[in-house]
Amino acid sequence: MTDCLFCKIVSGDVPAKIVRESAGTVAFRDINPQAPTHVLVIPREHHPTVGELAAADPELLAELLGEARQVAEDEGVAEGGYRIVFNTGPQAGQTVFHVHAHVLGGRGLNWPPG
Ligand code: C5P
Repeated sequence: MTDCLFCKIVSGDVPAKIVRESAGTVAFRDINPQAPTHVLVIPREHHPTVGELAAADPELLAELLGEARQVAEDEGVAEGGYRIVFNTGPQAGQTVFHVHAHVLGGRGLNWPPG
């Protein structure tokens, strides 16, 4: 999509601190980190939400989750514990409608979330 910010990160038209790439995904540091590790993992293809990605291409969703797990390993937060979050829809705080997994770790994370 031409007007999608994360599609522009995939194409290189918007800069990002990329930490991992796979055939179907790109992982980059969140511009406004909420934890010592805060990385977003996105599919190269445009899908608005995780539900729509699950319905359209479950193999790509599995690849994305595997990449999120690998980010946690690479960042050194896998052993201590980390969180994978998909904000889905406006009421849940989704602001960019190109599906993204937040990988958060490196500090204690409260439950329930705000
Ligand atoms: O789940 P939500 O849609 O709110 O998350 C969007 C995330 O994208 C935010 O955490 C925001 O900081 C991040 N972002 C970014 N780089 C941009 C624009 C937004 O990392 N250029």
